[in-house]
Amino acid sequence: MDVPDANDDSFGIEVILSDGGKTAPCCPHGPTLLFEKVSKGGEKGRSFYACSACRDRKDCHFFQWEDDKVSEARLLAREAENQSKRPPLTQQERVKRFKRLGSLRLDEKKFCQDCQMLLLPAEHEAHSSHRSVGVSSAQLRRPSVLLRPLLNKKSNAQYLFTDRSAHFLLNSLAGLGYNKVLCVGTPRLQELITLRNLEGKHEPMKSLLLDIDFRYAQFYSQDEFCHYNMFNHHFFDGMASSAVLQAFLTESEGGKLVMVADPPFGGLVKPLANSFSLLSQTWRKLQSSDGSGADMPMMWIFPYFFEPRILECLPSLTMLDYQVDYDNHPLYKHGKTGRKQSPVRIFTNISPKDIGLPKDEGYRFCSVCQRFVLSLNKHCAKCNVCPSKDGREWKHCSRCEKCVKPSWRHCAPCGRCALPDHPCGLSEGTEGCFNCGSLKHKRKACSVQDSQRTRSNRPNAKSGSKNVSHCPNQKPKVKRKSGAARRAKKLATQSVTSAE
Ligand code: SAH
Ligand code: ZN
Ligand code: ZN
Ligand code: ZN
Ligand code: ZN
Repeated sequence: MDVPDANDDSFGIEVILSDGGKTAPCCPHGPTLLFEKVSKGGEKGRSFYACSACRDRKDCHFFQWEDDKVSEARLLAREAENQSKRPPLTQQERVKRFKRLGSLRLDEKKFCQDCQMLLLPAEHEAHSSHRSVGVSSAQLRRPSVLLRPLLNKKSNAQYLFTDRSAHFLLNSLAGLGYNKVLCVGTPRLQELITLRNLEGKHEPMKSLLLDIDFRYAQFYSQDEFCHYNMFNHHFFDGMASSAVLQAFLTESEGGKLVMVADPPFGGLVKPLANSFSLLSQTWRKLQSSDGSGADMPMMWIFPYFFEPRILECLPSLTMLDYQVDYDNHPLYKHGKTGRKQSPVRIFTNISPKDIGLPKDEGYRFCSVCQRFVLSLNKHCAKCNVCPSKDGREWKHCSRCEKCVKPSWRHCAPCGRCALPDHPCGLSEGTEGCFNCGSLKHKRKACSVQDSQRTRSNRPNAKSGSKNVSHCPNQKPKVKRKSGAARRAKKLATQSVTSAE
């Protein structure tokens, strides 16, 4: 069967978020997402369901046309397949096992590197031909060091924070008075919180890890870890997990909660934004009536070139200049020059002026913008912003009436700034107009109204809305894979070249 790939560059594929009407079929990763193929001319293609979490059909082969009649036999087979992919232990068995592991003597504790699991004494025999090692109490407190990071390039590459970034996050949050951290896909942050509590030097903080990587469940009690899919807001343990989440989100006396999420870079922004909105709504409902209108404080860590897309979905967020970097990603190391600068930033609804960025790492406070920026990010009097997104010093182009990347030059035929070696006359790519699909003109010259264009042409337009809302569904109907998506894919596959 010739089926579209939700990540195929050659199609415009749009996720359609459910309005609660139809229930989506489930794959082993929970409810699937509905995708719609949109062709050049704007006509809608056939819609289909595919896995929310796996970007590669190889990792989850679920596929169903929306209008498919699925036979009873196929439903049964699917159910059997979903069952077989369930984690081996039930929630209850896991709790029991966790307690038993906790009561073992140090020399009885082992970790099997082949199976990536902690072993009870009775299990040592069965893993005797595997590579297993003894584990110290200190190691048990650092599962992100003990576990081998998943490096599945497309779906679930795990990039762990450097100490620098993790401590920056933790110290900033503690400094702002947060004492409950909902860690969504941030296992290393969760473990630093535990370690910090053990030091006993600070007010203790609570944390709850929501992650799809089931291996982490072995290291945490029931109220410290939930097996969760952030692309469809699915809790694999159903009600038991929802109860844990609800208890955590309820801010009792003096509790102040913040969410920190670090999704895989290749992930789709819209479903992520939707899940974070749902978490925020749950939080809001659980608070005592006085703070009713507020949004749950959050930090969403993602590459800077997704800024327009993220702000479109969650207008209350602002991007910080802080460069988040990772231990096990060769390209995302901290540095002041060249390609080595990490493209990963923090998007937050916490007031940027309250999040101080370290001076000794090259940040300063811009009193006009009322936020901390990289020193090279000079304030432009004409744009009235500190315009740089990528950490380099941008320069103002009077013809474009905005600041642009330092490597760009104004191109008269294209009527805009671009790289000197851009395919001239085809500045929107070889596909013609991005807005209406015509090959005769560029998007800039297009007469068909395009809501997105007016939006993205206002640099740093402050949005009035404070609400974390569902992503607006009024996208232009013609889409190709966005530049951001293409770059994210590049990042995820670690083959960034210096093409800028
Ligand atoms: N920088 C973070 C790790 C980020 S890597 C840290 O150091 O703590 C991305 C994380 O998201 C991983 O922990 C991965 O297991 C998790 N993840 C990936 N896909 C997910 C999904 N669909 N739902 C929930 N978590 C997911
Ligand atoms: Zn799946
Ligand atoms: Zn083993
Ligand atoms: Zn400018
Ligand atoms: Zn040109």
